Amino acid sequence: MTEQATATPAGPEPGDALYEELRAYEGLPAATAGTGPDPVNPAMIRHWCEALGHPVPPDGSAPETMLQVWTMAGLAGRTGRSGPYDALLGALDGAGMRAVVATDCEQEYLRPLRPGQAVSFDAVIESVSPRKTTKLGTGHFVTTRMDVRADGELAGTHRFRILKYAPAERGPAPKKKEARTRPRPVVNRDNAGFWEGVERHVFLFQRCADCGAARFPWLPGCNACGSPRWKPEESTGEGTVYSYVVMHHPPFPAFTVTEDAPEGTGGPYAVALVELAEGVRVVSNVTGVPCDRVRIGMPLSLEFQRVDGGSGDGFTLPSFRAAGDEEGAA
Ligand SMILES: [Zn+2]
Repeated sequence: MTEQATATPAGPEPGDALYEELRAYEGLPAATAGTGPDPVNPAMIRHWCEALGHPVPPDGSAPETMLQVWTMAGLAGRTGRSGPYDALLGALDGAGMRAVVATDCEQEYLRPLRPGQAVSFDAVIESVSPRKTTKLGTGHFVTTRMDVRADGELAGTHRFRILKYAPAERGPAPKKKEARTRPRPVVNRDNAGFWEGVERHVFLFQRCADCGAARFPWLPGCNACGSPRWKPEESTGEGTVYSYVVMHHPPFPAFTVTEDAPEGTGGPYAVALVELAEGVRVVSNVTGVPCDRVRIGMPLSLEFQRVDGGSGDGFTLPSFRAAGDEEGAA
């Protein structure tokens, strides 16, 4: 899992002895002469494509975004990891920065990986940031760059960043009125038509006027053909649960949406990716059923909720109610 960490700018503090110590690791190896446990192979490509709902590339090569997969040691243990990286993490642990969160990753692809090729890699500690304070706490960003080779030739680079930090003290949950008001949707000129529809209790998706592809959420261009021409179309509101999560923590008092969560506690509640009968998908809440009874494939129908927008004015949101016969069925 990755979590967004927003850094507030903070330069190196004069006399920050820890930062000076950490910077000495820049340029040292994070992994040396690592080898992938398996050569590039069609079975792993097929499993990965199935898991992501992705077609297997017709030429049999590995999807580029599998780059890191070939370097992963799995349960068998690490390969090639070097002393300096462990020592760097140890120095951060020693300074009380024991928590870690992966913040982001960048990859560059130079040539496709093909079945039969052997994978090897080296990684370097590219940079350590000055001390930063984020919402999570105070710590240092550590960036490593891994060069991945296929049969000895550079195939791509994988740049990975973590934040090692001392967690911020968390106060009690906010009790202010604002904490209970639902965040407003971001309405802009590309999606204003959708939200106008919602206020009229109509769910509108877009249909490309050139290729006929349906799309949601609203975008200025067609994902399938790039055309900017489209027409709004009304959904019947019938759908099914395509996927879902049940949100337990942290609690958001504004999101008390299900009958089984006490008023104002903020959870638990189900968030579903709902597939509408017209083929488009929308992230929404599921109501009318305890959140631990939500299941993939469960039929749902559209409804509209009026929610508290704070300062006296409410607004409307689409949500989805479990169809009646489903509640007694399980
Ligand atoms: Zn199109």
